[in-house]
Amino acid sequence: MGALRIAVVGSGPAGAFCAQILAEEAGREVAVDVFERLPAPFGLVRYGVAPDHKKIKSITASLGEVFDAPGVRFLGNVTVGADVTIDELRAHYDAVVLASGAPLDRRLGVEGEQLAGVVAARDFVSWYSGHPDAAFDTSLLAAARAVVVGVGNVALDVARMLVRTPDELRRTDVPAHVIEALAGHAVREVCIVGRRGPDSAKFTNKELVELGEVEGADVIVSPEELELSDAQQAGLARTPAAARLVASLRKLADREPQGRERAIRFLFNRTPVGFVGDASAAVTAVRLARTTDPAVVEELEAGLVLPAVGYRSVPMPGVPFDESTGTIPHRDSRVVDGEQAVPGLYVVGWAKRGPSGVIGTNRLCASETAAAILADADALSERGAGAETIDELLRSRGVAVVDWSRWLAIEAAELKLGEATGRERVKLHDRADMLTAAGGLGR
Ligand code: NAP
Repeated sequence: MGALRIAVVGSGPAGAFCAQILAEEAGREVAVDVFERLPAPFGLVRYGVAPDHKKIKSITASLGEVFDAPGVRFLGNVTVGADVTIDELRAHYDAVVLASGAPLDRRLGVEGEQLAGVVAARDFVSWYSGHPDAAFDTSLLAAARAVVVGVGNVALDVARMLVRTPDELRRTDVPAHVIEALAGHAVREVCIVGRRGPDSAKFTNKELVELGEVEGADVIVSPEELELSDAQQAGLARTPAAARLVASLRKLADREPQGRERAIRFLFNRTPVGFVGDASAAVTAVRLARTTDPAVVEELEAGLVLPAVGYRSVPMPGVPFDESTGTIPHRDSRVVDGEQAVPGLYVVGWAKRGPSGVIGTNRLCASETAAAILADADALSERGAGAETIDELLRSRGVAVVDWSRWLAIEAAELKLGEATGRERVKLHDRADMLTAAGGLGR
């Protein structure tokens, strides 16, 4: 019985956990190739988890161990869908696991969303995380007020990063140009706007408490924002997590502002119904309707609006896609086309479940996907996957693959850059610089 040959598309936590579980728990020989579009591994752990959440980011150490295991390879800087197709992967491997995440942003679908200055939170996150493809116009930081739409953990991340002090930022691995832009920016107030009441906020209490501890801003919650109906109050008794959140928000409401340089303000029961722009098509204000009384509409001036309202997966050529959920349809992790399972095709992570849960949620999700593959193993080995390796195909197309040793060279360059500037680590954010550090790769 030869090795079961598996391709994993995406090296974020879902893909990395899946490779790890397959390598460690298969009970048979496996060969796992993990494909990654970027020259760097770990997906949202590197490019989504906030830079000041170093403890969460440190999971990369254990996630990365899988690439030291025999039979597991990292193939970075390879775009599945461009450099190699899903069908080609299916022809070369016994099984293909889609761990492609949710790279699109949900849209609000309101007038004026296309105005300059209305920027998906992900674009801001990608920029401060040093993503090689990030594009964020730093002149937007000249705005006096920023509005963050949505009350999930991403909303808190971007609000917190907007008020971090230069010293706090220097303790992270963000590139120097990010520190420079965030060090003296003009934004004085960051409003975080939730469409439902405080009892329905999606952020976690730990993140809220952390926000209350930032040095650079007063966190302001007016008591009227926390007024609850009898039904909402009764609901708190049934949902301890919501009760904890409301209790933490009440503590923040009780605090006296300290006159800090910046302020973060929570507004609940309001939803954007439009964005107002000036003659140059730049946003100047957000129109907010009260969800408790839609006839009440107020305008809040803002030169930067960051919708943080969730993510969607992206359809891949040759792979079924459910537009209504924004995910890849599956039955027990096996990708389905209508009622039919697509032989040898599996899904894991946000592409499977939608964009929810914490990093650890992906471990359970990955173990389900790995179990499905292993249950199908006999049939998969009979699929007659091509014997020639994928390496030859990629070489013939001139794809500069960043393997694990080349990634370690990029990492070493980041540590060296940190050392040279008195910081622990500084991320390389330019793709060409990353490829140079990887050993003079040309693309
Ligand atoms: P999320 O938790 O789903 O929050 C999305 C927010 O956007 C909700 O408040 C939602 O309100 C609101 N929203 C959605 N559509 C809207 C619309 N049309 N108009 C106004 N508001 C709208 O998503 P997320 O913040 O992007 O986070 C994604 C996942 O990553 C979550 O599981 C999160 O916990 C995780 N994450 C974790 C951390 C951490 O642990 N530190 C950090 C970042 C992200 P409704 O509730 O009313 O729909």
